[in-house]
Amino acid sequence: MWIQNAAALLLVPLLFSTKFLGEAYSPMTMSAAAKATLYDMPVSNNGARSRIIIYKKKISSEVDIVSPMELGGLKSPEYLKLNPQGKMPLLTVEGSSFAIPESDTICRYLLSTYADVGPSFLPNDAKSNLIARLHDMYLTTIQGCLYKATPPFGIYGTRKDALDEFRKQMKVIDDLIDADRDGIYLCGSEVSLADATLFPTMTFARHMLPKFGIPETDALPPKIKSWYSQLLAGDDVFNKVHDEVLGALQGWDEKGRWDTIPLAGLRDEDPETIFDKIIAKEIPASVVYEDRAVLAFKDINPAAPAHVLVIPKERNGLSGLRKASPDHVEILGKLLVAAGEISKDESLGFKDGARIVINDGPDGGQEVPHLHVHVLGGRSLTWPPG
Ligand code: 5GP
Repeated sequence: MWIQNAAALLLVPLLFSTKFLGEAYSPMTMSAAAKATLYDMPVSNNGARSRIIIYKKKISSEVDIVSPMELGGLKSPEYLKLNPQGKMPLLTVEGSSFAIPESDTICRYLLSTYADVGPSFLPNDAKSNLIARLHDMYLTTIQGCLYKATPPFGIYGTRKDALDEFRKQMKVIDDLIDADRDGIYLCGSEVSLADATLFPTMTFARHMLPKFGIPETDALPPKIKSWYSQLLAGDDVFNKVHDEVLGALQGWDEKGRWDTIPLAGLRDEDPETIFDKIIAKEIPASVVYEDRAVLAFKDINPAAPAHVLVIPKERNGLSGLRKASPDHVEILGKLLVAAGEISKDESLGFKDGARIVINDGPDGGQEVPHLHVHVLGGRSLTWPPG
């Protein structure tokens, strides 16, 4: 009810304004648009697309850009009241009964509310919309693999899988770009929502993928790479947003953000073991099970009638169980599931159950510094172990 009243209150001055009664009303004046606030910070790539629209349409006096810190931060009760997700960006509009906590919806609100001000951003262009949607569905959902401390990243349990997928999805978008388009923007000579959506995330990718060992020259696929440098060279607003995002990322660098992230600051630098040779099939082993992540083979020096070792194919820092971190949750689960399956295999000599053992470190009697699960059975084992 109060919102209807608020709308009525807004209409009264409009009805009596000379613009409304006399000349054709032009939204160029923007007097009809309710004041809005975008809660956002420079580092937010998803918020940056709204900032590109605000800067391009020159509507900064209509849409305040405010840091969530002014309300106490993303997790403060005051901010959570506006956005229970505790995320940015968030758009609030005076007189509206709800806030908009989602980037694409914020952009579309800005594009329709300020349709006649500045560039249109081609809201009905199929290619622009497709690139923006692909970005939101397949890049945004896993972009945490570039900078977050721990998995999962979307549906991916390991950083490596998420990074591979991120690069694959950039390539899918790259394939949609015309090499000979007539202008510097993704859809040609006019800036579109796709440019605003993709550009800030590509600033992330260009800065962060090299931290994971991907050469800087290969961080972006070819057509995205040339589009990106054309925008940097030829569009002031994109340049400004590039500086905003990159400036914040460099702040993360200074704070050592990537120092403790596996595959970036943390790499597996322990020496190779005999198991690497078995994985590479350089020395023979009696393999009983193999999939993408796990290899299982008979122990060369069996301690029971049935004795199989189950190992991760990529050690990824797991020289022993004490090195396990949230990055290893997926592989640890896979090793145990494989061990359970193997222990049921009578053709390997297992009977009714097995002992599943991980020796860890000198006190545990570990000899090979590549995590391995012993599956022992074929007879009744005693307890306690020696
Ligand atoms: P740990 O004492 O480190 O827990 O166990 C290492 C296991 O690897 C031992 O049981 C040992 O017999 C086994 N092993 C060591 N080298 C080889 C090898 O070259 N081939 C196979 N199949 N097993 C090995």
